Amino acid sequence: MGLLENKDDIKELVDTLNFKEKIDRSLTLIKEAYKKYGDSLVVANSLGKDSVCIWDLAKKVNSNIRGFIITTRFKPKETIQFMKKAVAQYPELKVFRNDEKIPDRLYETDPDKCCDILKVEPIRRAIEEMNVKCWVTGLRCTEGRTRTDFKEVEERDKGLIKLNPILIWKEREVWQYLALNGVKVNPLYAQGYRSLGCAPCTRITAEEDERAGRWIGTSKCGGECGIHTRPLKINLDGGGI
Ligand code: SF4
Repeated sequence: MGLLENKDDIKELVDTLNFKEKIDRSLTLIKEAYKKYGDSLVVANSLGKDSVCIWDLAKKVNSNIRGFIITTRFKPKETIQFMKKAVAQYPELKVFRNDEKIPDRLYETDPDKCCDILKVEPIRRAIEEMNVKCWVTGLRCTEGRTRTDFKEVEERDKGLIKLNPILIWKEREVWQYLALNGVKVNPLYAQGYRSLGCAPCTRITAEEDERAGRWIGTSKCGGECGIHTRPLKINLDGGGI
């Protein structure tokens, strides 16, 4: 039985595996999935530290692996600059965004709807257009209150596998990997951010929770944009399944 079928206790692995064992496990998960899904395995890259970590790991497995970036009109200029450099270096990274008109300050009045339109819609399109059967994410179970119950391999949408190869990594281990492998990171981290998103919804905080600076002052505080929780496969009628 391969690692893709593992039923291991994720919370136990967070504290029992050492740094090297975690890297090896992540690489094995990506290798097995790439062997199974080939070019229909695609990496989601949000341009945060976990994404550049997973992108680097995937490229170590096979340099042909493709990726997609979901961007919005509200991303900070530093993130846009970082994105442009990443795409110039890796043309196999495709950018998706939704430019449809939305009400002013929707991120304040209805952030769930705003994320649905600006983030979830383009990711559905990315999955459709890039013919994705397995998408790889940099999700980690120690990031915050909303991320404790994910698995390394999931099928939330029928026919779409989600692989979370660094699910058991701690924040420190991500930085350790990036430093040891010389991976460039979004310059916003140097300003004190720990979790990056759209400018109106992301702040620097001194809270323990890594995602505490996201959507402060709304019902979504420290929560999710919906990419990891909403259906992503498009039916012929345009709805999720
Ligand atoms: S993070 Fe904020 S600005 Fe960005 S899509 Fe979500 S609600 Fe809108």
